[in-house]
Amino acid sequence: MGNLRHTAIVLAAGKGTRMGTQTAKQYLLLRGKPVLYYSLKAFQDSFVDDIILVAGKDELTYCREEIVEKYGLSKVRAVVPGGKERYHSVYAGLEAVQAQMRSNLTEGKSGVESGAAGLKSAVKTAVYIHDGARPFITQEILHNLRESVEQYGSAVAAMPVKDTIKIADADGFVTATPDRTRTWQVQTPQCFVFDWIYPAYAQLIADEEKLKEQDVHITDDAMAAELFSKRRVHLVEADYRNIKITTPEDLMVAERFLNE
Ligand code: C5P
Repeated sequence: MGNLRHTAIVLAAGKGTRMGTQTAKQYLLLRGKPVLYYSLKAFQDSFVDDIILVAGKDELTYCREEIVEKYGLSKVRAVVPGGKERYHSVYAGLEAVQAQMRSNLTEGKSGVESGAAGLKSAVKTAVYIHDGARPFITQEILHNLRESVEQYGSAVAAMPVKDTIKIADADGFVTATPDRTRTWQVQTPQCFVFDWIYPAYAQLIADEEKLKEQDVHITDDAMAAELFSKRRVHLVEADYRNIKITTPEDLMVAERFLNE
């Protein structure tokens, strides 16, 4: 895939109603620091060049002052407002990445390189879309994702499921049992070459009403790629510890992981 610039989009614009707390899950404290800090810090300490943070419009100042500045997260290039659904927040992040790529181009900074014929060619960007509520990404996961995105153009963190999965109808009656040896639970980061995930997301946003009518719920980034691009999505084995803090039990497990 040649020379890639690596940009993380970290999502923190959710309200987190399943936690049952006033504070959204990504801002709850783990050992005195917000869950979101750990997610950002993993990217800060990695090969990733830039981070775009997507937060609720009322939390932008808090994120800038109490997380980005306070902990010296110097790779965060922008803190932008998210939207109602997760996929709106991802799209806001992708638009911020595009704005960043444009400004790099006009400033003639990184983001462009001279081709052999003396022509300027844009360096491709890979985006690593990550839930701010997943604080346990490791450098090893990021490294493995990078290898896959460089080779296949996509890399989705995932783990084989341990339990048998059932598909049920709306009344709770089983309609199918997928082969467990082929069933994965997906996590984040979900990584893609920008040039093909951005148009896929743009199409998703354009078709939003149609999808709602068809009762299609967009719950991860790979779905945008599966529905609106012809590319194949590659799963990369990550770690069972890469949990999303969603319910109070998850916070207890997270405390335990940190204390080990
Ligand atoms: O709600 P869910 O568990 O899918 O959220 C996953 C991540 O996406 C969280 O980090 C949350 O803050 C973020 N999110 C967002 N904008 C939304 C909904 C969720 O940035 N509208």
